[in-house]
Amino acid sequence: MECSRCLSNQTIQSLSLDTNNICQFCKIHDEMDKEYPLNDNSEKKLFEISKKIKKKGSKSKYDCVVGVSGGRDSTFLLYYIKKILNLRPLAVHYDNGFDSDISVSNILNICQKLDVDLETNVADWQTFKKITRSFFKAGVSDPDTPTDVGIFKTMYQTAYREKIKYVFNGHSFRTEGIEPLDWTYMDGKYIKEIYKKYGDGDLTKFDNFYISDIIKYKIISGIKTILPLNYINYSYDIVEKILKDEVNWNYYGGHHHESLLTKFVVSSYLPKKFNIDRRLTSYSAMVRSNIISKDDAKKILQEKPISEKDENNLKEYILDKLDLSQKEFENIMKMKNKNFRNFKTYYNIFKYFKIPVKTLYKLNFIPKLLYLRYFG
Ligand SMILES: [Zn+2]
Repeated sequence: MECSRCLSNQTIQSLSLDTNNICQFCKIHDEMDKEYPLNDNSEKKLFEISKKIKKKGSKSKYDCVVGVSGGRDSTFLLYYIKKILNLRPLAVHYDNGFDSDISVSNILNICQKLDVDLETNVADWQTFKKITRSFFKAGVSDPDTPTDVGIFKTMYQTAYREKIKYVFNGHSFRTEGIEPLDWTYMDGKYIKEIYKKYGDGDLTKFDNFYISDIIKYKIISGIKTILPLNYINYSYDIVEKILKDEVNWNYYGGHHHESLLTKFVVSSYLPKKFNIDRRLTSYSAMVRSNIISKDDAKKILQEKPISEKDENNLKEYILDKLDLSQKEFENIMKMKNKNFRNFKTYYNIFKYFKIPVKTLYKLNFIPKLLYLRYFG
C-alpha cells in the first residue's frame, strides 16, 4: 500500500487512500498550498505582515520570539527575520541536555554575528531525564515529545513575559511535511499520563503545556504564530550555502541530528522498534513540492540513516545519560508498540471542538497545519 503521489505507505497506521490512491497527507498539502501559494506575490505578503509586526512592536524591545535549535530551518528563520525582514527578534533556546556541540556553536555563531539577543531555558535535568525515560518505558513512538513541548512552552512564556505578540516558527509544509499523529503526538496531558504511569508523576519542574496555557497565551494575550518559510521558495542547498558563508553554520550530518536524543530516536529507535522512518515525512513533502523525484527520494530512504558504529556509540551514550540499563532497553524494544491513542490525552476532548479550533486558525492564533493535522 503506497500513495500514488508521495511516499506514504502502510508504515503509517492511519494511512487512508482515496479511489485514486492519493493519501490524506497529499490532500493536506494541497490545502496548505491554496493558503500559501508560491508566486511573485507570496514574499510580498510576508513583507506586509512584518510591517504590521514592526508597528505593533514599536514600543517594545523585540518584535518577535524565534525558537532556535542550531538546525538548518530555525537558523535560517532567524537569519531571514533579522537580515531580510529587518525585524528585532529575541532568540530562545530550550536546552534539554542533548544538544550536540555543533548545534550549540551554530546558535552562538548566528546570534553573535547578527547581534541577536539569546535566551536559553535550561531544563531541570533530573526531571527531564525521568520524563524522557518514562516515554521509552511506555513503549511509545514519540520519546522526543517532552522536548517539543518544552520548546513550545519556552517560546510562549518568553513572549508573554516580554509582552511580545508574535512567535515565529520555522516549519515549512513544502520541505518538512506533515508528520502522522500516530508517529508524533504533542500534548501536555499525554505527558502527564505517561509520567504518572511510568515515572514519579511530579511535573512541577517541567515546562509542560496545558489547555490553561492555550487560554493564557493565545486567547487572553493574543500571541500569534507566523510561519515565514511557507511564503518563500525554500531550497536546502541555497540556504545551507548562505548560512555557511555568512554565519559560520555547520551541518550535523542528518535530518534532525542537531539533538543527540532526536538523532537516536529517528535513526535507531523508531526504525528498529516501530519500522518507522521519519525521513519519509519530509521526503514525501519534497516529492509533492517537486523538489526531488519519487525515485530519487526512495533511493535515499533505502540508505541507512546512520552507520552501525555511530549507532552503537550513540545508543550507549543515550542509555547511560537516561540511566537505562541494556536489559531495560531490551525489554522496551520487545514491548508492545504504543502511541498516544493508548493514553488519556486532550485529543479525546479536542475532537469535539472542530469549529472553535477552526476559528483559532482562521484568526492566526494557531497554524493551519496544526488544525489540519488534528481535524483534516
Ligand atoms: Zn500522498
